[in-house]
Amino acid sequence: MSSSTDLLNAALAAARRGWPVFPLKPRGSFPALHGHAECPGTGICANGHRKPEHRATTDPRRIQDCWSDDDYNIGLATGPAGLVVIDLDVPKPGKPVSARWAERDAADGMDVFLLVCADAGQTPPLDTFTVTTPSGGTHLYFTAPAGIELRNTQGERGNGLGWGIDTRAHGGYVLAPGSIRRGRRYTITDNRPPAPLPAWLVEQLRPAALPPQQPTEITTGHGRRARYLDAAIHAETERVRAAGGGERNFSLYCAANALGQLVAGRELGEQDVTELLLHAAHDHVTAGAYSWNQAHKTIASGLRAGAARPRKVAA
Ligand SMILES: [Zn+2]
Repeated sequence: MSSSTDLLNAALAAARRGWPVFPLKPRGSFPALHGHAECPGTGICANGHRKPEHRATTDPRRIQDCWSDDDYNIGLATGPAGLVVIDLDVPKPGKPVSARWAERDAADGMDVFLLVCADAGQTPPLDTFTVTTPSGGTHLYFTAPAGIELRNTQGERGNGLGWGIDTRAHGGYVLAPGSIRRGRRYTITDNRPPAPLPAWLVEQLRPAALPPQQPTEITTGHGRRARYLDAAIHAETERVRAAGGGERNFSLYCAANALGQLVAGRELGEQDVTELLLHAAHDHVTAGAYSWNQAHKTIASGLRAGAARPRKVAA
């Protein structure tokens, strides 16, 4: 059987499971469809460019038509498929496992995932639909939770699970079994139906709540005491905003610690201080220095430290 027939059959098999597919470049991992920049604005894009996720289909006729053109690899749109796929990677040359995992003897993404499970006190959820990748990595397939739109995560960034662990959900795709890279196929190694994504992983992967949209105003009143509090708030939020490089998380902690002393002295409200600091941290989160989750945690831990040294403003 030719590889194009194999690819067509593999695409149809994915569609029969209810997983929408779209073509990727032959032997590649990027969409074969035009990108946003080259959109002709005709056909399916007549009302605006449609991303691969929205063009993916389970319609056998459209799949037949498409895969009769070329040996396309198979993109599986995880969001519309109702799947969350945990992608456990193996180190690429020159990109070893990061130090904090390597010192715990992790050699690849699977090792890191097993440590993440152990740290959470959970059994590794390995009894599910599984695909082995040409590089020796592993794709664990899970059904997505109802009512929560999980997005992709990458490695340790944001609320990612850890080194070498990507997750693919809404806005993402994986190469479906049957796809070919470096002359080897993505192969199903456990053919049972996908298990539901365990609740503890849903919690870890759930996007953090966005901070309030409007800057918080704290009414500090008039007079010397108010001026003192205003100056303290200004100095500490400025410290957070101005921090650079490796200082950014520590500055957030120090600011929370300093203002936390005034919270403990009942001069400021804890909620107000948290919101002010989240606002000050906004650009750092956008730049990927830390996630909203991490910012919340850093502020909470700074406030706890500050609570040990209550401070009042002299009347
Ligand atoms: Zn388009």
